[in-house]
Amino acid sequence: MNVPLLDLRRQYETLRDEIEPAVREIFETQRFVGGPAVEACERAMAEYCGAAFGCGVSSGTDALLVSLMAEDIGEGDEVLTTPFTFFATAGSIIRSGARPVFADIDPVTYNLDPEAAAAAVTSSTRALMPVHLFGQPAAMDPLGRLAEERGLAMIEDACQAVGAEYRGRRAGSFGDYGCFSFFPSKNLGGAGDGGMIVTGDEARVKRLKSLRNHGMEERYHHHTIGGNFRLDALQAAVVTIKLRYLEAWSEARRANAERYARLFAGTACFRSGAVRLPETAPERRHIFNQYVIRAERRDALMARLRESDVGCAVYYPVPLHLQPCFRSLGYARGDFPVSEKAAAEVLALPIFPELTDDEASRVVEAVEAFYRDDA
Ligand SMILES: *Cc1c(COP(=O)(O)O)cnc(C)c1O
Repeated sequence: MNVPLLDLRRQYETLRDEIEPAVREIFETQRFVGGPAVEACERAMAEYCGAAFGCGVSSGTDALLVSLMAEDIGEGDEVLTTPFTFFATAGSIIRSGARPVFADIDPVTYNLDPEAAAAAVTSSTRALMPVHLFGQPAAMDPLGRLAEERGLAMIEDACQAVGAEYRGRRAGSFGDYGCFSFFPSKNLGGAGDGGMIVTGDEARVKRLKSLRNHGMEERYHHHTIGGNFRLDALQAAVVTIKLRYLEAWSEARRANAERYARLFAGTACFRSGAVRLPETAPERRHIFNQYVIRAERRDALMARLRESDVGCAVYYPVPLHLQPCFRSLGYARGDFPVSEKAAAEVLALPIFPELTDDEASRVVEAVEAFYRDDA
């Protein structure tokens, strides 16, 4: 039995009858950029996240970049973030002209450690960019206090965390900007690239909407320099339909995580500590964009799972401070030991909502077999 890491075709089969007419309608109107589909998606996302406003953009990466641009962050500024994340988090900071400054993570949530973050703030720091990695929120109360005390903008990278909650509030609604990605493999994915910024501030959303369209307010009059960071109507229409099912999908992912916990509880590799399961910190709703275990001899386990046709992946094998393209930032191995250890141990297993009982059992058996045969 082949168990994929993610199978979007199963999801599409349940949505085809809704998505196809919505796509056809956009073709009939030939209104592909902006318009009512984008506005409806912005309202629905803002409401879902518990924020007042939404601004559709071209990707999660651009959501981060446009938020930085809206704060006039650039040359000479520092933005504090985690080194254990997808490249785009720090890549967008560099593209804004600012310098990413890293602080180490909490080993349980894999998110920015508030104390490490506080120690890394300097007089040049302009913003905090926490990431809610794998679908579990960062410690937003202490991070929010730090931002407030030091007068920093808060830009949440919520690209993996749509619907995640911390103390009853949704990811993306804590900061000045909440950034989301509609890349197809995210929990709320479009039919291509897309993204959204949510914010509680009317002046900010006006600025974001101007920046995504070349800094234009009145047609062909430009007061600021923006770019083309617009969301397509087709993506917006697909995302708006899928958003209605997101709660049920998040619930199915959580149930899958519980099923894994039950299945692993009886295995020798779990009892010996060779495999450690993901933990949800108190007062959080984890939406499991990924289900990430820590595993002894991780690379050998991954190779074996792939041979056995069990989908798995490492998010992320190289922390950002050790990426060749960031060498000029001057970081070295050993600077962020918690992140480096995580990068060596983590392995994501299939958790998509449609995963069956048999498939989950097959995954756990394959992991168990590796440690048994290799003992
Ligand atoms: C996916 C992702 C992004 C980028 O989103 P795109 O839509 O692919 O540009 C940024 N940050 C994190 C943490 C992500 O997972």
